[in-house]
Amino acid sequence: MTTAFGSQYTAPLFVMNLDNSMSLLGRMIRAVLWGVVTGGLLSIVRQASDRQMDGAPPRKSPATNRLHRDPVCGTYVSGEISVKLEQAGHIAHFCSTECRERYAQPAARAAGA
Ligand SMILES: [Zn+2]
Repeated sequence: MTTAFGSQYTAPLFVMNLDNSMSLLGRMIRAVLWGVVTGGLLSIVRQASDRQMDGAPPRKSPATNRLHRDPVCGTYVSGEISVKLEQAGHIAHFCSTECRERYAQPAARAAGA
């Protein structure tokens, strides 16, 4: 009973499996082809959008709006309002003249702290 039931359905199942695997291969080939086609289209669209992005104004803020760290107290201060001290070609920015004086006179800073 069980063997008859099994043999009855083995052959059709095998054919179905073979058929499925064949169509699966076909589907895979089609998927790869579609992947190539859609991938190429997507890259073209992406290139076009990249070009649009280049046309947009840059998001980088002007140098004057950059924040500089006060080396004495650690406050971030805008280059527009900072107290500057040029030292060996490097410009240090301070939040106040007090910080600048402390930086310029390490001995006074040590004494004050
Ligand atoms: Zn400061």
